[in-house]
Amino acid sequence: QLSKRLETVASFIPKGCMLADIGSDHAYLPCYAYLHGYVKGAIAGEVADGPLRSAQEQVKKSGLAHVISVRKGDGLQVIEPNEVDCITIAGMGGTLITNILDAGKEKLIGVKRLILQPNVGAHIVRRWLLEHDWELITERILEEDGRIYEVLVAEKGDGKKPYEQLEVELLLGPFLIKEQNEAFRKKWTMEMNQWRKIIEQLKHATTKEADEKKRELTRKLKMVEEAL
Ligand code: SAM
Repeated sequence: QLSKRLETVASFIPKGCMLADIGSDHAYLPCYAYLHGYVKGAIAGEVADGPLRSAQEQVKKSGLAHVISVRKGDGLQVIEPNEVDCITIAGMGGTLITNILDAGKEKLIGVKRLILQPNVGAHIVRRWLLEHDWELITERILEEDGRIYEVLVAEKGDGKKPYEQLEVELLLGPFLIKEQNEAFRKKWTMEMNQWRKIIEQLKHATTKEADEKKRELTRKLKMVEEAL
């Protein structure tokens, strides 16, 4: 039984593609994707020995060693240019995800779709996509076991940039703002409460830094309040 989070990621894998799952850990995602007919083959990339071993064991146990190649390496180093058409990177922070994409830019040649699931810092991923001509085509937000996850799906753009995304869209997600489901409202209500607490604590602060932080949080709070 795959988590709802990874099932959501898998649901965006184009049928019949060749997949690379980077930071695959137990390789549940590529195994599930193959067994459900999403992919014709996959690469499970891992940088750490423990997770690499558990990926190897899972692939072997599932009898999928002929279609899923488990490879050790940092980020996109485990793939060749034009080897895969879809990449999934799930369960990491937004900064780590964009660092992996930046470091492996030449490996993105031939890749048609990125499915990214940042645990935190989704806005960092959205900005990276915008700046590197990857068009965000859809997004999901969901709650599982008391945690809220965002899934971003992007396809290679045509190089044209007809618009600059607004700060509020980068932060909240242009598709998620429109939908405003329960998980979305819960996430931002919690964030705003946190910001309000910090603003309150900074009320009597006198340093320049504290004042700047208070003003920045007040501005962000107003921006999110208006969007909700
Ligand atoms: N993708 C799985 C999921 O969503 O359930 C596993 C997520 S786990 C929290 C993050 C995994 O990413 C770890 O197994 C870690 O070793 C791996 N990882 C971190 N940085 C990496 C990198 N630069 N290249 C490859 N794997 C990396």
